[in-house]
Amino acid sequence: MSLSNRIAVYTGSFDPLHLGHENIIRRAAALYEKVVVGIGVNPEKSSYFDSDARAALIRAVLADVPNVVVEPYHGLTVQFVRDQGARVLLRGIRALSDIEYEFSMSLTNSSLAPEIESVFLMAQKEYTHLSSSLIRQIAALGGDLRGFVPEAVGAELRAKHGR
Ligand code: ADP
Repeated sequence: MSLSNRIAVYTGSFDPLHLGHENIIRRAAALYEKVVVGIGVNPEKSSYFDSDARAALIRAVLADVPNVVVEPYHGLTVQFVRDQGARVLLRGIRALSDIEYEFSMSLTNSSLAPEIESVFLMAQKEYTHLSSSLIRQIAALGGDLRGFVPEAVGAELRAKHGR
């Protein structure tokens, strides 16, 4: 199967989706014909929201963007990218500290699948401090999540903590 330059696969845990992720997805959707948001499922790691709940939230938040699709996946990321018919593996970069990890992942992925190109979008400055682990901590402590997550995600987080 030939792989398309016009399809980008944006992978991550998205546990949960926050405004930094949403911003990357919207910007990618303006650049590519189709963006597949791939939710990596690791059965050995416990998750905060299960993959179906994460997928449903991302679909709800991006419902106004017709060229975005959301799929949980198991196994190798590069295999998932190939299965989507895509040549572009998209990741976001927040700070210099992300670069070391992303650089080694991209070298590993290009050894496994030289036909797939990793492409990086830099976080917009208002979102560079956001991470899913920070969001989970704020939610557990009852903090105000406005400015961190889309409203639908905030509602799920409040419900999870009985608020
Ligand atoms: P992972 O579990 O693979 O690190 P995450 O769900 O944390 O994935 O993030 C998915 C992708 O989004 C990664 O490429 C990550 O660097 C990027 N990302 C995370 N937070 C932000 C942010 N605030 N702004 C832009 N990109 C981000």
